[in-house]
Formats: sequence, C-alpha cells, structure tokens
Amino acid sequence: MSFSPAQLAQAREKLTSARILAARKVSPYLAHALYSIVFTPAPIATMGITRKYACGYGVEFVLAESVPTLAIVLLHEIAHPLRRHFARWEALGKPDFQAWNRAADREINDDLDALIRAYNSQATDRAKHLAWPVSCTPCMPEGINMPAGLLAEQYLAGEPKPEQEQEQEQEQEQGSEQEQEQEQGSEQEQEQGSEQGKGSNPATMGDQGCGSGVGGDPAAWEQAIDSQLDRTDRDCDAIVEKTAQDTKKWIASKGCGSGVGGWNRWADQVLGPVKTRWQDRLRKIVSNRVAKIGRKKAVYTRPSRLQSAVGYSAGSPLLSGRRSHVPQILVAIDTSGSVGEKEIGVAMSHIAAILKATRGAEITVCSCDTAIQGWISGIRAWKQAIKAVKGGGGTLFRPVFDRAASEHIDLIVYITDGHAADLASLVAPDCSVVWVLAGYHAGKSPTGWGDCVISD
Ligand SMILES: [Zn+2]
Repeated sequence: MSFSPAQLAQAREKLTSARILAARKVSPYLAHALYSIVFTPAPIATMGITRKYACGYGVEFVLAESVPTLAIVLLHEIAHPLRRHFARWEALGKPDFQAWNRAADREINDDLDALIRAYNSQATDRAKHLAWPVSCTPCMPEGINMPAGLLAEQYLAGEPKPEQEQEQEQEQEQGSEQEQEQEQGSEQEQEQGSEQGKGSNPATMGDQGCGSGVGGDPAAWEQAIDSQLDRTDRDCDAIVEKTAQDTKKWIASKGCGSGVGGWNRWADQVLGPVKTRWQDRLRKIVSNRVAKIGRKKAVYTRPSRLQSAVGYSAGSPLLSGRRSHVPQILVAIDTSGSVGEKEIGVAMSHIAAILKATRGAEITVCSCDTAIQGWISGIRAWKQAIKAVKGGGGTLFRPVFDRAASEHIDLIVYITDGHAADLASLVAPDCSVVWVLAGYHAGKSPTGWGDCVISD
C-alpha cells in the first residue's frame, strides 16, 4: 500500500507526539532511551525495533491507532533492546524465535499493564487514557497460566511448543500401537489447538514479531537502517547504562510506583552492586580528617578579638584567640621491597589521589624501609614526590612515627603491605593514621588502629 506525503507526515507527527507523551508523562525514567529511537517506515503490520534502537513502523498501523496507544507501543518496543532480549536469546542457544518473542513480551507487558492502570486512574480526561492497540492482543503471563514478574527465560519454559517440535513428539509417541496412536493423535490435535489459542496471541505486537531487538535475524529493512545509523555496540550499551542510572534516580526521588518494579530490578542488574573506587574512599577519609584538623584552634598566645569587650585589667577573664591551622600530612611509602618503576608508579597514583583530597594542607612524602630513606616537604604535584621514593631493605614502621611526632604531623597516610618487624611494639600516635594497603596484605589495619583503605 502506498501513502500520500500528507499521510506519511501525519504518521510521523503522531509518533513524535507519542514519544513526547511517553517520555514526559508516562515513563520519564526511560526518556533517554526513547529519544534515542530513530523512526523509519517499514513493511510491517505494527511496529518493531532493532538492537540499535531503530524503530520500524507500519504507516497504516500508526494512522489507525491513537497517540496514547502509540506511546504504549513505543514503551513496549524500547523495552526489548533495553532488556537485551536479543543477547539473551543468543545466550539461550537461539530457541524458537516466535516462542521467545512471546516470552519476552510477557516479561514487558505485565509491568506495562500495571503502568497503564496506574496512569489512567490519575488521568481525568478519558481521551488521554493509555490503552493497548485495538488491532493486536498483548501477551500476558496469565495467557500461559504463569504469575507476573518473571523473566522471559522463565516464561519461555511455559510457552506452547512450536508446531515442528510438537509434530516430532507426536511421531515419537506414535509407536507400536496403531489404534491407540490414531485415537491419541486426534485427542492431541484438539488439546494442541486449545493450548495454542490460550497461550499464544500470535500477533504479539505484530505478526512479524517485535524485530531483531528481541532476537532472530534482522529483516532487510532492519539491516538497511542499522547500517545507516552510526551507532556502535558500545553506543547502545551506553544508552542502556544511562537509562538505568536515570531509572534509579527517578525511583530514589519518586518511589517505585505501579509498573516500575520490573524496571527497578532491571536497573539494579544493569548497574550491578555499587563499587566504591579505592581512590574515592581514600579521598573521602583523608578530606574528612583534613577538614577536622584545619578547623581554627583555640590558642592563648594570641589575644582574642573580643577581649576588649571584657577589658584587659587584672581580674578580667582571659579569652582565647583563634588561630587557623594548616594541616600537616605525611605520606609514608613502605619501600621494603625492591623499588622499581612499577612500585613508583603505584605510589604516585596513591599520592595523586591524596593530593586531590588535601587542598590547603602541607604535604610531605617520605619513604622508609628500616630507616627513613627520603623526605620531601611542600609537595604540590605527584612528580615532586618521585625523588623521595628510595629504599629496599626490611620493614620498620617506628622511624616514620617517631619522625612524624617530632615534625608535628597531623595525619599519616601510610602506603604499605602492612607487614613490619616492629608491629607488636608500635603504639597509636597522637595524630590520625590512614593505612593504604597494597600488594599482599591481610585486608585490615595491621595495628588494629587507624583507618584502612585497600587499593587495587
Ligand atoms: Zn514485543
């Protein structure tokens, strides 16, 4: 069927409006992915999506359906590549595509159905109510008597088997007893007929499935549009990741309402457990310590600016003055092993992280094996610290703590594997200590006191 330019323009306009409705009102957390969609007219009955977020649409279908319905179809289609159905299909060994498409649809549609009901209960204008398309029935978990909230892989196990497999099974069963075989055959056909009707709404979102974003080989129109899109697999992964981050932020601010539960689980899976980089942890600990040290100290060697209010005569109370204090930080590097380029590189990356966390502090870097080997004060850039890294004998911690006490150090950051000959006799100093453990370490503070950061 050919369409006039006006019809094509109208279809395009409806899709644009549907995307805005979905991204602004219905599922704002999926906005990034929705705006990544590239639309293209395609020789299909409804809509389908590629793994590169190209959305093909049948013009007749778009012209026939309302904008709110098209918004729902878009939210359905975008869920396929976001949930990486194509990769999961491959990981399963490329099972029957029609069955997989239905299973994937069930994974999406239970959430979408809850979302539609929640949205419509808020919308007073019925004309703006969301609705499923009139031309095809969505696959729901109850269609195969399974509960909502499962994954496509689980629904696939409950999908009616494809005709070919059924026929093979029938052939196997049609063994020795001819009469029984005939009776059973007719019974089975009836059962299969009802099973198929109950379980598979063949159209899902279209009689050709939902596109290669779900799995299967890409159709010609999909190959054409995907090759035109200058979009790598990495770009597509970035869409998934950004959308997952947006989803978590949205849920954190608005709560996990109806129809969002599946997306919450999905985002958790995409983003994985939150890993704090050791550099971030070190920076946080050190900057907290520095902030406390840097607070103005009460001193009696300098008069208080408020002293004039109480007078200077004998008997007047003596108010303390305030003196700002520049935090003195010592970064000690355990150079007990042989110090090569690699070790120096690791030490410098630690120092770079510390420098970022200690603006306004005085930094000294030293190296120590059984004695202090290098000591450089006034470090502003990690390159200045390289000359301080020397040594290679055994390990003692005491030389560093003794020197730190005499130099009025406020915080020692000790980069070490935590093994030293004088551990048992070491007592906690007056200053703060942060152990940065590198190499073969025990994973905890070697002395039992001080903060501990484990670097990679
Ligand atoms: Zn689908």
